[in-house]
Amino acid sequence: MRAYAGPMAVMILGGTARGRQLAELLSARGVDVMSCLAGRTASRIPLPGRVRVGGFGGADGLALFLRDERPDLLVDATHPFAATMSWNAHQAAAATGVPLLRLAAPSWRQLPDAARWTWVANHDAAAVAIPATGRVLLTVGRQELPRYLPLGDRDVVARVVDPPDVALPPRWTLLRSRGPFDLASERALQAGPPPVATLVTKDSGGTDPDPKLIAAAEIDARVVVIERPPAPVWEHEVATATAAADWIAER
Ligand code: NAP
Repeated sequence: MRAYAGPMAVMILGGTARGRQLAELLSARGVDVMSCLAGRTASRIPLPGRVRVGGFGGADGLALFLRDERPDLLVDATHPFAATMSWNAHQAAAATGVPLLRLAAPSWRQLPDAARWTWVANHDAAAVAIPATGRVLLTVGRQELPRYLPLGDRDVVARVVDPPDVALPPRWTLLRSRGPFDLASERALQAGPPPVATLVTKDSGGTDPDPKLIAAAEIDARVVVIERPPAPVWEHEVATATAAADWIAER
């Protein structure tokens, strides 16, 4: 049951930098914040307020949880590729009448450079779109790495936060590190030797230019971008944690 620790209770479906930033902003304003995480990442950055880890059991389970917890607002701050959770949040909010705010980075589709990139519908298509030669930098997350195993024993650098569950080909380099990465580190990584020939990334999006895309453009690397999965139509959507906090303050 909800404990009324502040003037307003906000439940954040997180697992993203934006979700954490919003939890920090709201907690600083005295809001009772509960951050909900799937629990995929072993190395977790501390969050202010209450933290709940683990799934709800689909949209129905989330609706039950919302009825019990009775937050004033649900914020879906999950990653644009966490589509199941977003659809569940949309459905559960509609079923319970809990107001819902979507907080997500805008797609990179609108960037001027986007027309020069190879856009693909999914990871299998991305693996096929990678040219036959040259170093490949995979920034697709550890869960998706198995989809790229058909690349075989090529010169591949896979950047992940946590190690993958599968064994990687001997020539692959596993780079364990957590972003955000600045332009200097992206340049150093992509310059090689050998330089990265193909960068593979999801359309995580953002409001600022992404250093890995800038570095790739500088060395003329091919960029393969996986399109976002279909998402609900949001009644209320903002792009930054600050905009979300302001939107909440106005309510
Ligand atoms: P997903 O495919 O949309 O979700 C699968 C299931 O995981 C959901 O049905 C739900 O289980 C549970 N779940 C997902 N997000 C949750 C959350 N914030 N709190 C509680 N349960 C959650 O999601 P995913 O792609 O596996 O991503 C999992 C988490 O990693 C998300 O929080 C997301 O923001 C973060 N993340 C994902 C990506 C990515 O590229 N997918 C990148 C960065 C961060 P139940 O149905 O049992 O409720």
